[in-house]
Amino acid sequence: MTKKNYDIIIIGTGAGGGTLAHALATTNKRILLVERGGFLPREKENWETKAVFLEGRYKTQEVWRDHNGKEIHPGTHYYVGGNTKVYGAALLRLREKDFEEVLHHGGTSPAWPLKYRDFQPYYMQAEKLYQVHGLRGVDPLEPPENEPFPYKAIRHEPRIQQLSDAMQKMGLHPFPLPLGLILNEEHKERSPCIRCDTCDGFPCLVNGKADAEIACIKPALSHPNVTLLTHSKALKLETDTTGKKITSLVVEKDGKTETYSADIYVVSCGAINSAALLLRSKNVQHPNGLANSSGLVGRNYMCHTNTAMVAFSKTLNLTKFQKTFAINDFYFGSPDWEYPLGHIQLLGNIKSDMLRAGAPFFVPNVALEVAARHAVGWWISSEDLPDPENRVTLDAEDNIILRYLPNNEQGHERLVKKLKNILNSLELTVSVVKRIPIEGVAHQVGTCRFGTDSKTSVLDLNCKAHEVDNLYVVDGSFFPSSGASNPGLTIAANALRVADVLKN
Ligand SMILES: Cc1cc2nc3c(=O)[nH]c(=O)nc-3n(C[C@H](O)[C@H](O)[C@H](O)COP(=O)(O)OP(=O)(O)OC[C@H]3O[C@@H](n4cnc5c(N)ncnc54)[C@H](O)[C@@H]3O)c2cc1C
Repeated sequence: MTKKNYDIIIIGTGAGGGTLAHALATTNKRILLVERGGFLPREKENWETKAVFLEGRYKTQEVWRDHNGKEIHPGTHYYVGGNTKVYGAALLRLREKDFEEVLHHGGTSPAWPLKYRDFQPYYMQAEKLYQVHGLRGVDPLEPPENEPFPYKAIRHEPRIQQLSDAMQKMGLHPFPLPLGLILNEEHKERSPCIRCDTCDGFPCLVNGKADAEIACIKPALSHPNVTLLTHSKALKLETDTTGKKITSLVVEKDGKTETYSADIYVVSCGAINSAALLLRSKNVQHPNGLANSSGLVGRNYMCHTNTAMVAFSKTLNLTKFQKTFAINDFYFGSPDWEYPLGHIQLLGNIKSDMLRAGAPFFVPNVALEVAARHAVGWWISSEDLPDPENRVTLDAEDNIILRYLPNNEQGHERLVKKLKNILNSLELTVSVVKRIPIEGVAHQVGTCRFGTDSKTSVLDLNCKAHEVDNLYVVDGSFFPSSGASNPGLTIAANALRVADVLKN
C-alpha cells in the first residue's frame, strides 16, 4: 500500500545522502530520508577499543560472499550518518591531476568527465559544512584554492611535531591533515571535540566529530518538511510500464513491507549497497537491473590498496590526538619510480588491545601497554584501477557477492618500503604491516560511474541515471577512478553539486 507521497526520497544518510538532505532541507520540498540503521547509541563502549576493534560492536552482522563463495564480514556500518559515524574525518580534496587520465604501472586511471574546477566551489562548501581544519600552501600537490580552510589546522602534539620536523629536514613536505572536527582550541570550555585518543575508527561519544549525522542530518531534521525513517531498509525501486520513471520504493520496516512514492528518488546507500539495490530492482523493462542496460551497475568497484603500519621507537609517544599530518611527496611518483605511489597519513592512536589482535597469546598485556606507548601508526593508500571484473553481484537470494582482486600493486609496495626506510632513519622500527583485506570496504567507490555516454556509464554528469528520468545516485558510486585520497570530502562535494542541479 502506498503510504505517502513526497517530493524527494533519499535512501541512505551517509556522506552522500546526508549532505544532500542538508542542502535540500531549506527548499521546503517534502523530503523523506530512508535509512536502514538507527541512531548510533551513545554509550561508554563508543570509546572502548575491545568493543569497537576486537568485537566489532558497531559493524553490520550482515554476511556477504566473495566470488569463490567465501564469507566476507564487511567493515561497514549501518547508522544514521552511515560510515562517517566511525570515520577518521580526514577530509581531503582529490588532486587536480586525479581528474585527468594518469598512467600507472598497472594501467591507466581514466579521466573524469568533469574536472577539478567543476568541483572546486563544492569542495569549499563541503569543507565549511564539515568544519574542516587545515592549512593551505604546505602540501605541494594541493589543488588550487584562494580561500583558506574554514578552520585553522589542528595543532600537532610534541612527539608528532618532532616527527613532522624530522621529515621536513629530510626534504619531505608533511602537511597538516585536513580534519572535520567540531573543535575550538582557544575556548576549550565550548569545544565538543576534546582531542581524545579514540577518534579514527571509533564513534564519537561527545559528538565532536563532524560526521554526516551531526553536521547534516540533525540540522536538516529541524526543518518540518524533512522526515526520517530509521530501521527501514530499501528493498526495491519500482517503475512504470515505460521503465523511464520510478513510481515507488518498497521498504522493509519491522519485518513488514511498506511503499513510499515521490517525484524524485535519490539512492545513496554506499557504492556496494546502491549497486545491490539497483540490481535487486530488476523488472521487465530493466531485466539486468534498474538503469543497467550498459551492464555497468556494480562493476568497476574500487576501494584503494590500503596498508596499516605500526612503528615503534625508544621515544615515548604520549600523544592523545595523533592523526594530524600526511605526506603526498610520492602521490604521483618519486625520483626512482615514474608512476604514482600514493598517500601516507598518520593513523589514530595505537592501543594495546589493537596490538593484542596480532600478538602471540603468551605476550602479557602489560608488555603490550608499554609497546603501545612507544608506537606510531600509519595509513598508506594507493590508487586501485577500475576493473569491470571487480564487481558487486547478487546470489539467488539477492545477497551481496563482492569480487575484488587487487591491481596496480607495485606502486603501493614501493610506498610501503619507502615509508619503512624513512621511519628507520628516524629510529622507528616497523613491526606491523597489515594489508587491508576484502572486508575493508571503507573506501568503496565506482559501481555506478558517471559519464556522457550511456553505453560506458550508468549516470549522466548530473548523477541522474541515463535511462531513468527521476533516479539519482549521490554516494561514492559515481567515481570513474579512485585517486589515492580518502573519498569522503569528494562524495560530500558531489552531493552539494547534485543538490544545485535538483534545486534548479
Ligand atoms: C573506519 C572508517 C574510517 C574512515 N575514515 C575516513 C576518513 O578519514 N576520511 C574519509 O574521507 N573517508 C573515510 N572513510 C570512508 C567514508 O566514511 C565513506 O567514504 C563515506 O561515508 C561514504 O559515503 P556514502 O554516502 O557513499 O556511504 P555511507 O556513508 O556508507 O552511507 C550509506 C548509508 O546508506 C544506508 N543504507 C545502505 N543500504 C541501505 C538500504 N538498502 N536501505 C536504506 N539505507 C541503506 C547505510 O546504513 C548508510 O547510512 C572511513 C570509513 C570507515 C569505515
